[in-house]
Amino acid sequence: MAVSKQQADERIDAMLATGQRLFGENRVQEAQTRWSPRREAVPDLKLRLIGPLQSNKAVDAVALFDAIDSLDRPKLAAALADAVQKLGRSPELLVQVNTGEEPQKAGVAPGEADAFIKAARESYGLNVSGLMCIPPADEEPAMHFALLAKIAARNGLRELSMGMSEDFETAIRFGATQVRVGSALFGARG
Ligand SMILES: *Cc1c(COP(=O)(O)O)cnc(C)c1O
Repeated sequence: MAVSKQQADERIDAMLATGQRLFGENRVQEAQTRWSPRREAVPDLKLRLIGPLQSNKAVDAVALFDAIDSLDRPKLAAALADAVQKLGRSPELLVQVNTGEEPQKAGVAPGEADAFIKAARESYGLNVSGLMCIPPADEEPAMHFALLAKIAARNGLRELSMGMSEDFETAIRFGATQVRVGSALFGARG
């Protein structure tokens, strides 16, 4: 996945010209502005939301994205279930796990992940296909990737979105099925 947040239009269009079709964005509105005008010209475009989602933006997110990788709380699960009903469109869903239990970071705590995944599936009827994590910036990422893979395995989830520019090779060694690479592809954001 090419993470296109905060990148200039020329870089986006150059990336599209290479044939890249899968892009990640962390804000609904920024993604709408960037991608709505390009959608028609690129019918096989795939967009994933990799940033936190407010429940009042669930309808907009379900309308725009092919996948939402940041499901992490019951209120959002309820809002997504409503949006899926309303729009008749079911983006792929990943549960974000806050593997480092960092207070400023989104994601369900590792100890609550199993119960939350079960509730998302059974109480809200959501089709969760995997997990996503963003390890703490100042820690060795390997143990976080291993933890995410373990939680996924015991819940029968196949997709593991883990690894960014600095650590995607490690993430692949630990079983990543998707890596989210921004600056290493596009250059620094700004
Ligand atoms: C910005 C972002 C990335 C990409 O980060 P790089 O270090 O530029 O590769 C990946 N995942 C998430 C959730 C992000 O917000």
